Amino acid sequence: MKKRIFVAGGAGYIGSVVTNELLKSNYQVTVYDNLSKGHKSSIPKNAKFIKGDILDRRKLERTFKETRYDAIILFAGRIEVGVSMEDPGVFYLNNVVGSFTLVETAIANGIKKIVFSSSAGVYASKDTPLVETDLIGPASVYGHTKRITEEVLSWYNKTLGLRYAALRYFNAAGATPPDRGEAHQPETHLIPLVLQVALGQRKNIKIFGNDYPTPDGTCVRDYIHVLDLASAHILALKALDKQDNLVCNLGNGEGYSVKEVIETAREVCKHEIKAIVAPRRPGDNAILVANASKAKKILGWKPNVPDLKDIISSAWEWHKSHPKGY
Ligand code: UDP
Repeated sequence: MKKRIFVAGGAGYIGSVVTNELLKSNYQVTVYDNLSKGHKSSIPKNAKFIKGDILDRRKLERTFKETRYDAIILFAGRIEVGVSMEDPGVFYLNNVVGSFTLVETAIANGIKKIVFSSSAGVYASKDTPLVETDLIGPASVYGHTKRITEEVLSWYNKTLGLRYAALRYFNAAGATPPDRGEAHQPETHLIPLVLQVALGQRKNIKIFGNDYPTPDGTCVRDYIHVLDLASAHILALKALDKQDNLVCNLGNGEGYSVKEVIETAREVCKHEIKAIVAPRRPGDNAILVANASKAKKILGWKPNVPDLKDIISSAWEWHKSHPKGY
């Protein structure tokens, strides 16, 4: 029998790509999404869709009583680092209370496995690649909400036997043209914003701070293709048959500064992309680069599109064909 997976936030950028890959790997998928940020048209046709909020315990109860799910993948949540510093309450409510509500309702209904979208934002900045045991020290409310949820999962694991994987994504990027790409509303992420400049939709890209302790003064991140994230989720689901908890980084182990990302996009798009220096964005870490040895060793994971140029090329292809997003 096909395994049934409940994907909370499956209409979003990463969730919809993972849903598609799950279907291709012969899972049955139900997408549960409130469509506050996600796009209905990005949900793969063969997935069942339920419009709902992870804060809505009654709806979750009904859904779990109706269908038995083998596992949950939790993407639903707010993701904008900058906004989290202006409006922390929205983040604690959606990401902490929402995740808690989903976990609690799942366990009360006999669902014992969950794969959670965590983030590199749980770490303190470090100028060498981060391993999972490195210092936890979120620089933003967003990162803190991810850390709290990891801790909640860990305690449900110890007390009630919840099996969980917390996947600490570094910077998800790239697209799976022609169908799916990154289009947030409003957009706050570097690569889609840079591509909007290339498309003539924005005058320039603002570089948030050029006085960080990094080689060129701009923040350094590790960009990972969304399909490589997807393959890790499927491996993590399988790993939970054998082990009851897993925390691992997902990144390529290469750091690129904001300036380097813009320069690479110029090469890919063959457009001049005007950049201007702006003040730092509150909540940003200077450097976040992954050491993903653990995911490679334990999950047998291997990124297929590690090169930043290829990642940006896939995003560019999608953006050119979807200039208005979804
Ligand atoms: N960034 C920037 N200008 C923008 C958007 C982002 O300089 O218009 C920087 C941001 O400060 C961070 C990096 O690009 O250092 C990646 O930011 P993004 O929001 O894409 O991802 P995050 O690392 O916050 O998850």
